Amino acid sequence: MDDVDFATERAESFNASAIQMVLQRSSATLSTGSCRSCDADIEEDRLRANPHAQLCCDCAEDEEAERLKARRCGPR
Ligand SMILES: [Zn+2]
Repeated sequence: MDDVDFATERAESFNASAIQMVLQRSSATLSTGSCRSCDADIEEDRLRANPHAQLCCDCAEDEEAERLKARRCGPR
């Protein structure tokens, strides 16, 4: 019993710190306006929607499609 509680507690605190790390990283890194992958200018609409965007639409599609499946960048 105690082992299970302990494991759950550990898992929860790990998740919390992982989430916090992601939040801190994304809020600390405002976009430079250039794609960090291909160095192209990031679309203004994209920056307005996400001031922390690090990738242009093309590169983000590649990367985000993996994580967010349903998300699209909109019409081109
Ligand atoms: Zn790019």
